[in-house]
Amino acid sequence: MRSRHFSQAVLAWFDQYGRHHLPWQQNPTPYRVWISEIMLQQTRVNTVIPYFQHFIERFKDIPTLANSSRNEVLHLWSGLGYYARGRNLHRSAQIIANEFNGIFPDKIEEVIKLPGIGRSTAGAILAQSHQQRHPILDGNVKRVLCRFDAIQGWPGTSIITKQLWQLADKYTPQTRSRAYTQAIMDLGATICTRSSPACSLCPVQKICLSKQQNLQTELPTPRPCKKRPTKTAYALVFKNEQNEIYLEQRPPTGVWGGLWSFPEVTNGKEPSGHYLATQHHTFSHYHLELTPIIIQSNKQSHTVQDSSTAIWYTPFHSNKLGLAAPVKRLLNQLFHEENDS
Ligand code: SF4
Repeated sequence: MRSRHFSQAVLAWFDQYGRHHLPWQQNPTPYRVWISEIMLQQTRVNTVIPYFQHFIERFKDIPTLANSSRNEVLHLWSGLGYYARGRNLHRSAQIIANEFNGIFPDKIEEVIKLPGIGRSTAGAILAQSHQQRHPILDGNVKRVLCRFDAIQGWPGTSIITKQLWQLADKYTPQTRSRAYTQAIMDLGATICTRSSPACSLCPVQKICLSKQQNLQTELPTPRPCKKRPTKTAYALVFKNEQNEIYLEQRPPTGVWGGLWSFPEVTNGKEPSGHYLATQHHTFSHYHLELTPIIIQSNKQSHTVQDSSTAIWYTPFHSNKLGLAAPVKRLLNQLFHEENDS
């Protein structure tokens, strides 16, 4: 049977060539696997490893994470991007502490209800930590299945998504759930890659429909083109006589939600100061062109005082703050220039 052949070939390949020494594969408790699965969403393994290690060192278990401040969680998340993931982790830890006695639930219906955990992530956590049999369908798996069965149509539509879930279920074996989950993710990440699939090394090349029809690079069908709008904004970098820089905490939701950043305005004609080069950022719904403006400020005369959502920042600031990567980069640049001059 083709489905049995698929899972057996993928598992045999994994035993020989798969990744077996990732930090979260050692002692795969639900907590460790959960943190790794969330960090790995939209992010490569090599980027995640140091973040995972720092995070687990600081928050050794769910109660520790639940009792920490969101600021500290976001501080350890700084640079990893997609900060809603960090906020949801923190919120979920608090729910698990309150409603599950601090123990990660082991029923998929309960896991799916936690903020930031969808069906695929829930399945991956339970398969890897408890050896439960659940299909998974992350971006890598979608790509493998679309190609293996030559599925035409953008996987973002509900019809194709439903079809892919059925295939994911069909190919998931009854045993070796932990290994198969890692195996199918590894196959997508290392062999059936986005732009140049290494079909000659693939364990299922002989029964892959895309390979037979030479469709590997055309599938999965790309998302229909939708132009993202470009927004323009100006970051007001107030610097006082003590060379401190003014930061505000952003609202909890939205871009860089809960992180510390410069005040922003959309009209760059008003502020007078030293304009730096415009930075380009791309988010899921729009592009942002952000121009920092350095403005000398007199702390005494400035109307805004230190508060829980606004501070005058120095690199030696005792608070651990979550900073968006571009903010961190600009602060480093400004303070280095200061030291070099
Ligand atoms: S044969 Fe090629 S296209 Fe098919 S699953 Fe393997 S790597 Fe992907």
